[in-house]
Amino acid sequence: MITVENVSKSYGATRVLTDCSTAVARGEIVVVCGPSGSGKSTLIKCINGLEPIDAGRIVVDGTSVADRETNLPKLRARIGMVFQTFELYPHMTVTENITLAPIKALKRTRAEAVKRANTLLERVGMHDYADRYPANLSGGQQQRVAIARALAMDPIAMLFDEPTSALDPEMINEVLDVMTALAQDGMTMIVVTHEMGFARRVADRVVFMDQGRIVEDSPTQNFFEQPASDRARLFLSKIL
Ligand code: ADP
Ligand code: MG
Repeated sequence: MITVENVSKSYGATRVLTDCSTAVARGEIVVVCGPSGSGKSTLIKCINGLEPIDAGRIVVDGTSVADRETNLPKLRARIGMVFQTFELYPHMTVTENITLAPIKALKRTRAEAVKRANTLLERVGMHDYADRYPANLSGGQQQRVAIARALAMDPIAMLFDEPTSALDPEMINEVLDVMTALAQDGMTMIVVTHEMGFARRVADRVVFMDQGRIVEDSPTQNFFEQPASDRARLFLSKIL
């Protein structure tokens, strides 16, 4: 579904990704972790075509992201993104947030889009909040709406960039529970997170990054029980 081949990227003179390769199969759940500044967000943005790459190749569902002929907005619309900071439209209700893109980009009728929004709100446990504005929701509730909004585009894969890092501790689990259910439904997911309990329970593989390199790419159990690199071991000893 997603292949990353020998990808390198710099911001000006600063190298942030060096020769990164990995692949995510349909239905696979991959957790990406590593120290702050190791390039996790950049990797996610490159996969989504939000940042250009300097070398290598990224292919999403058969389409090369860097290809000149690729319709990037169209490709991006097929990949759901969830960020640390929710980024709901503040002047729109929950339903309006979820139906905007399907109506505009997928040409759904309002009635169709609202029906689907209701189904998705049910799925993330937010059906009672359809007419609220983001400011009147907790962080955990906003993030669940953001997940529903991404799902409304019928994405082929979901990318999460530290979806629970901005949340108060008591709200983290309600978001992780929604993500776990999504994983169990067969969604292809790349999740940047430091929630190692979630990684252990849900991930098929763990990718560990350090200084712009993929240092480790292992089945989840191997990663936790016998990390191959000293750097991953050190990281785990600090975080667990
Ligand atoms: P992570 O998500 O693992 O914390 P990032 O991908 O955000 O790491 O950042 C990797 C490195 O790239 C950091 O050193 C960061 O300062 C740098 N960086 C990120 N975005 C930009 C940008 N837009 N311009 C310049 N440098 C950036
Ligand atoms: Mg980041």
